Amino acid sequence: HYDDAARIADHLLGTVRIPFALSGQELVTTASIGIAGSHIAYDKPEDVLRDADTALHRAKLRGKARYEVFDQDMHLKARQLMQLVTDLRLAIRNREFVVHYQPIISLKTGHVRGFEALIRWMHPERGMVSPVEFIPIAEESGLIVPIGQWVLLEACATMSRVSRELREQSGDSPCLMLSVNLSGKQFSQEDMFDQVKRVLDETGFPAQCLKLELTESVVMENAQTAVALLQRLKTLQVQISIDDFGTGYSSLSYLQRFPVDMLKIDRSFVSRMSHGSENMEIARTIVALAHSLDMKVVAEGVETFEQAQLLRDLGCEYAQGYYYAKPMDLEALRANGLFGKQFNLDIPLE
Ligand code: C2E
Ligand code: CA
Ligand code: CA
Repeated sequence: HYDDAARIADHLLGTVRIPFALSGQELVTTASIGIAGSHIAYDKPEDVLRDADTALHRAKLRGKARYEVFDQDMHLKARQLMQLVTDLRLAIRNREFVVHYQPIISLKTGHVRGFEALIRWMHPERGMVSPVEFIPIAEESGLIVPIGQWVLLEACATMSRVSRELREQSGDSPCLMLSVNLSGKQFSQEDMFDQVKRVLDETGFPAQCLKLELTESVVMENAQTAVALLQRLKTLQVQISIDDFGTGYSSLSYLQRFPVDMLKIDRSFVSRMSHGSENMEIARTIVALAHSLDMKVVAEGVETFEQAQLLRDLGCEYAQGYYYAKPMDLEALRANGLFGKQFNLDIPLE
């Protein structure tokens, strides 16, 4: 019965967890365990191992240092996942990805100051698949590297073209900022620097208008290497923004050493912000922290006039959210007149 297997697994986990000394350093290890039972009528030993492996994988996904017992539902999920990876692999070749852009608004002037590039997957059978669903899978399978590279190239090429058109129409227009998300895997690529450089060279997009967004956890988990890599990127003149700020654990001493231009207050704080609320105080603290480190702040997920007003009062420089505009394709940006648009910040929209 599974109880026995579970008891043994617990015992193993507990034993492995006992700290030990290695060259004067105290070390702690953990293990993850997958369990498959013999009550399923298996034909081949490989199949038992495969299912145990699936359960092991689940254990790791659920935070490691634990065990999971295989069930049929896992099998189904694992098959769906494999299908998704196969589809993802084809999606690049079949050109099923598109980039949507969400405006970022200056809370000082109301001008659309730039855009964040957000990938969308037009699956031939499933329709539009959210990045929330496929980015983690792309990340885990390594496919994020070519996908992310494609987004960077596509977005820079598009915005480069648009900027040129705008300049031809209205003389000198200030450079449109473009924010592109970089995943942890991308960030740890040996040739990341060269890839960014190549895209800038190829598209002619001005480096100082490109902002690379890295999540707080990615930067902090690789803090030591991140400092060097970010400094190297900065030599290209690109800007660095820390995404989802406030959701992870930032070491303030590192934050100070990172050549970061901007902090992005995570949506979870912004969406639950009201006068005197705890989230408002968190936002206030992030703004103060950013300013004391000479960084600018953008708040994401702004959905109401009130939120925008509170953020303005806090001195937050930029806002992004459904209140102003949802992410949309280039056509729609044009149709909605979002290039060069100025919002009136003093009165509610509509
Ligand atoms: P993110 O980088 O935090 O992007 C912001 C997300 O918040 C976007 O979701 C955007 O549509 C959504 N959002 C913006 N304003 C509002 C609002 O007012 N209310 C609400 N409820 N949501 C709002 P999206 O496009 O689904 O992307 C989700 C995540 O997927 C992104 O979160 C990012 O982590 C990842 N992602 C998207 N595109 C890329 C990409 O090209 N590369 C990588 N590595 N990750 C990407
Ligand atoms: Ca982002
Ligand atoms: Ca974010």
